[in-house]
Amino acid sequence: MSTKSCDVLLLGGGMVGLSIAHQLLERGLTSSITILDKELELGLHSSGRNSGVLHAGIYYKPGSLKAKVCVEGARRLRSWIEERGLPLNPCGKVIVPQRAELDGQLDVLAERGRTNGAEVELWDADQLRDLVPEARTASGRALWSPNTAVVKPISVVRRLRQDLADRGVNMLEGQQGFEAQPEQQQLTLNDGTQLSYGHLFNCTGLQADRVAQLFGVGDQYTLLPFKGLYWQLKASCPIQPRTNLYPVPDLSVPFLGIHFTPSADSTPVVSIGPTATPAWGRENYRSLQAIEPGMAAKNLGVLARQYLANRGGFRRYVHEQAFLALPPLLIRAAQELIPAVKPEHIELSQKVGIRSQVFNRQTERLEDDFLCMPGPSSTHVLNAISPAFTASFALADLIIDQALPTLNL
Ligand SMILES: Cc1cc2nc3c(=O)[nH]c(=O)nc-3n(C[C@H](O)[C@H](O)[C@H](O)COP(=O)(O)OP(=O)(O)OC[C@H]3O[C@@H](n4cnc5c(N)ncnc54)[C@H](O)[C@@H]3O)c2cc1C
Repeated sequence: MSTKSCDVLLLGGGMVGLSIAHQLLERGLTSSITILDKELELGLHSSGRNSGVLHAGIYYKPGSLKAKVCVEGARRLRSWIEERGLPLNPCGKVIVPQRAELDGQLDVLAERGRTNGAEVELWDADQLRDLVPEARTASGRALWSPNTAVVKPISVVRRLRQDLADRGVNMLEGQQGFEAQPEQQQLTLNDGTQLSYGHLFNCTGLQADRVAQLFGVGDQYTLLPFKGLYWQLKASCPIQPRTNLYPVPDLSVPFLGIHFTPSADSTPVVSIGPTATPAWGRENYRSLQAIEPGMAAKNLGVLARQYLANRGGFRRYVHEQAFLALPPLLIRAAQELIPAVKPEHIELSQKVGIRSQVFNRQTERLEDDFLCMPGPSSTHVLNAISPAFTASFALADLIIDQALPTLNL
């Protein structure tokens, strides 16, 4: 039986785990780092399956962790991507009200964005038409974000993994299962290897609540996964927006509404999505094989209670977003932004992701912000939903700073 040790063990090699390793190295805190992932390849979950939008920091409640890290994180990740010549489309983004009564939300978003340090401009219908001639604003106004960009998430994950491996980070991929001994600061892997650590960061995304509970952390949280399906405009479609086109979101739920997103590279693919449909399984991407019946039954109960109590305006989510995986409803939502889009213009994309959305059983609410919870010689990152990809470098610093007094480095 072999024994290995490291100062810092990162469980999960998505953007959050990789970025913590990156920041530990950048800050010279330690180079004794191991990243352990259950998959043979990194990027198979949210970090390789998202929209690739580098968000500008507009939506988030001032004072929230999301608001604290999004603008700075986007700036740093963008420079890192540009320095390496990875695909990046600096196309900006425009938000349009799909109904006249949503016009006032543009002012709320503009105010939030400015408070968070994002650059935003209120536009009239002519300015919108100049950029996206086919787009519609129900009120004659729109909100422009010049600093939003689109990247290719899987290329970012792969390059960051490679950079870290080149700098001596120990990568343990394909490790399906371990036994945790938190008191001994040790994991026993399936092949019997004992892995001891000074501090463990749990960055396991869709599994983070389960893993945290092995360390006695976060019993009140459970994953409520929401699937994001994407469609795309066919190459033959005469409408190909050159910028991100988003609806005014319902700020009471953590989904932004289906939107048009151009690709990061020269392939002219505009995606439409993602939907936000209950997923019935943590990694239930396509087929029905990965449905978890116990979890699905529990979550159906949670969703039904949310609907009946209308907590956080949940009924509006159900009526407007829960069924957008049905093509006629998706088309209707797309037409609210671009009326000329027709069913024959779109096709289902291969891309699909599942959000690691957490539900708090005590407050009976969906958590909106990132959760960084201390445990025995460990930190547990839950609810790393959007914009955790964008914000990852700055979020990593915040997580490290919180753990620093107990790190013993
Ligand atoms: C549909 C969709 C669209 C999105 N769009 C955007 C966007 O445009 N912009 C943005 O900023 N964010 C977006 N996000 C959010 C973003 O993708 C996530 O916030 C981010 O990728 C989270 O990274 P992570 O490292 O926490 O999780 P993940 O990328 O899921 O990584 C977790 C890793 O942990 C591993 N793991 C799990 N369990 C174990 C275990 N027991 N042992 C070892 N390893 C384990 C997994 O294999 C995985 O590699 C989107 C998310 C979705 C789902």
